[in-house]
Amino acid sequence: MTKQSQQPGLTGAKPMGPVPHWFKADEDGSLLIGGKRASALVDEAGDTPLFVYDSAIVADKIAEFRQHMPAEVALHYAVKANPLLSLVRWMIPQVDGLDIASGGELEMVIAAGADPAQVSFAGPGKRDDELAAALSAGVTINLESHREFTRILTLAEKSGQTPHVAIRVNPDFELKASGMRMGGGAKPFGVDVDQVPALLDAIKNSTAVFKGFHIFSGSQNLDAEALIEAQGKTIELAARLADVSGMEPPLVNLGGGLGIPYFPGDEAVDSARIGEALAQRLAALPSSLQSSRFAIELGRWLVGESGVYLTRIVDRKISAGHTFLVCDGGMHHQLAVSGNFGQVVRRNYPVANAQRFLATPTEVATIVGCLCTPLDRLGDQVALPESDEGDLIAVFLAGAYGASASPSAFLGHSPAKELLLV
Ligand SMILES: *Cc1c(COP(=O)(O)O)cnc(C)c1O
Repeated sequence: MTKQSQQPGLTGAKPMGPVPHWFKADEDGSLLIGGKRASALVDEAGDTPLFVYDSAIVADKIAEFRQHMPAEVALHYAVKANPLLSLVRWMIPQVDGLDIASGGELEMVIAAGADPAQVSFAGPGKRDDELAAALSAGVTINLESHREFTRILTLAEKSGQTPHVAIRVNPDFELKASGMRMGGGAKPFGVDVDQVPALLDAIKNSTAVFKGFHIFSGSQNLDAEALIEAQGKTIELAARLADVSGMEPPLVNLGGGLGIPYFPGDEAVDSARIGEALAQRLAALPSSLQSSRFAIELGRWLVGESGVYLTRIVDRKISAGHTFLVCDGGMHHQLAVSGNFGQVVRRNYPVANAQRFLATPTEVATIVGCLCTPLDRLGDQVALPESDEGDLIAVFLAGAYGASASPSAFLGHSPAKELLLV
C-alpha cells in the first residue's frame, strides 16, 4: 500500500516535502523500510532514536547512474555524506572511487577495505599528520593550495615516498541555482584558475605524480540545465589548463552537485538528460583531454533518500491551542531537518507517524525534539493522524548529512543508533 502524495487540506497545516514514493505500509498501516516494519527495526536496533539506511535504495541510485551516464564516467562516493563504516564497506565494491576529506575518513576507508588507488583526499586545512598518512597510504591528494604542495614535498622527501597529487581548481564560474556554492569567486577551496599553471609547473619539476584535476562547483542542485552548463564549463576549463601547461590530466573529476527533492515543489533531477549532454561532450573532446578519464563524485544523491530517522514521541502537550509532539530525538542527530544546516528559510521535510503511515490526517501538530532550544523542530504544524506518546515518528530523507553532520554532543544525549539494511 502506498501513501497518497497530495497534501491534506487541514486548516493551519504547513506543507511538507514529498515522502519518497517507494515507501509502503503493511496491512496495519505500519511503515515498511526495506520490507520490515518500523517498530521491528527499532526492536532489532534496541532503541530509538534510530537511523535506518536501506542499501536497496542506494543500489537503485547507483543503477540509475550507470544507466544514464556514459559508461566511461566513473562514479565516486563522497564519504562525508554518510561515513557509517558498514555503509562504506557496502559501497566500496559498487563504486569506482571514494572521495574523502579528513585524516579520520582516510583511516576509516582503509579500515573498510578501500584500495588506496581509488581514494582521493580533498579538503582545506590538511595537517601535516594527515598529509603524512595520505602519503603512506598512497592515496591521491587533491591540492588545495601551492603551499600545501610544498608541505607535501617536504614530508615526502623525509619519508622517501612518492606523492600522488591532483589539483583542486577553484573554478572561474558558478554552478547556478545551487543549494551550496563551493566554487567561483573568493573561496577557501581549491586553487584559483590563474594560479594553476604555476602549480602545474612545480608538479612537473618534482617527484610527484600528477593525477589530474578536481573541479567541484556546488551541491544540492535539482536543475539539470544548470548542471549540464557547469559540466561543460568544467571540461572547457580542464582543457584550457591542460593546453597552457602541456600536461594531460589522467583524471578529470567533474564534481557532482546532483541534489534530491526535500521540499514541496522540488522535483528529482533529470539524470538521463545530464547523461545525454555529457555523452555528447565526451564524444567531442578537445585534443588535450583525449586520454583523460572522467569521474563524478556524489554523496547526497546516492544515499540521502535511503535513510529514515525514527524517533519516539515521549510527550504530547497542548500550549496556547497548539499541539506539540515531543520526541526523544532531535536536531542533535538530524540537524538539517530543523532548518539549521545551510538553509535560509526553514521548511518541512517529509515526516509521518510510522505506525499510522496511511491514516488520514486529522490534526495539525508541531513535532519537536528533546533539546532545550526553540531551534529543535522536526516538523512545524504538519498534518498527521492523531499521534500519541509511544508512537514512532519517521523523518524521511535522512541518509545524508544526518548523524555525522549534527551536534551530537549538544546537551549530552546519547548518539542515535544506526542500522544498515542489506
Ligand atoms: C561535500 C562534497 C561532495 C558531496 O556533495 P553532495 O552534495 O553530498 O553530493 C563532493 N565533493 C566535494 C569536494 C565535497 O566537498
